[in-house]
Amino acid sequence: MIISVASGKGGTGKTLVATSLALSLSGNYKVQLLDCDVEEPNANILLRLAVDQSQPVYVPIPKVDETKCTYCGKCAEVCAYNAIVVLKEKVLVFPELCHGCGACSYLCPESAITEEGREVGVVERGGSGNLELVQGRLAIGEAMAPPVIREVKKYIEPANIVIIDVSPGTSCPVVEAVKGSDFCLLVTEPTPFGLNDLSLAVEVVRKLGIPCGVVINRVGVGSEEVEQYCHREEIPILLKIPLDRNIATLYSRGTPLVEGVPRWREEFLKLFQDIRSIVVAK
Ligand code: SF4
Ligand code: SF4
Repeated sequence: MIISVASGKGGTGKTLVATSLALSLSGNYKVQLLDCDVEEPNANILLRLAVDQSQPVYVPIPKVDETKCTYCGKCAEVCAYNAIVVLKEKVLVFPELCHGCGACSYLCPESAITEEGREVGVVERGGSGNLELVQGRLAIGEAMAPPVIREVKKYIEPANIVIIDVSPGTSCPVVEAVKGSDFCLLVTEPTPFGLNDLSLAVEVVRKLGIPCGVVINRVGVGSEEVEQYCHREEIPILLKIPLDRNIATLYSRGTPLVEGVPRWREEFLKLFQDIRSIVVAK
């Protein structure tokens, strides 16, 4: 089963939930935690697993052989990202805009385009016992997160329980990470900002046709509006984590919630059972 853990905004406790769920389940199951928050992978700050493998991720970038090129302009016409421009006697490629879709080389009538790899990040792997970590890391200054996320997801073993830590927000990297999940857990906080970003995230997962449920973190601040919204939209609230100085202290020290306060393990196991019931009933 693949469970993605997402949030419409940063700082809601998404990684706290993803790591606590993974650690709780790894007592009984084989678990993979995929850190797809590739701009800032920080699940392993909490998990502290040894990372012993690293693979670069490349995006294929077109390389034009101008001895074959007739400057017909077809490559520029087909490029949806304006990453290739044809001048009168020159073809310019802008690697940082290129998504490596391959359309230009496929459609070039003169077979003048070959491809060369441009490194955009790495996939790192490690683990201990039943828990495997696969994390993507975007190269500094890179904006092309989806290829790194796709590479991370290639390591999914369907027989395992897979927890995907998704980047915050609702943009392309979120869609890339969440798609294909059996369930999406949306972590939010009971504030007007939390509600606004939760409703945007709900729209995204609904468009993807993925069932979702909500974890409300820092219960005790703000208002009841998030709960009212969930009831109205018939979205199950699967877990509430109170605003608690002890929880905040553990997090700031890099201690997973279920290690700092072991009774939370039961709560996260129940959370998983509830998710499983929803997925099975779908
Ligand atoms: S499609 Fe091929 S031949 Fe035409 S301009 Fe582009 S590289 Fe040159
Ligand atoms: S590979 Fe795709 S994105 Fe890159 S230049 Fe060619 S058509 Fe554009």
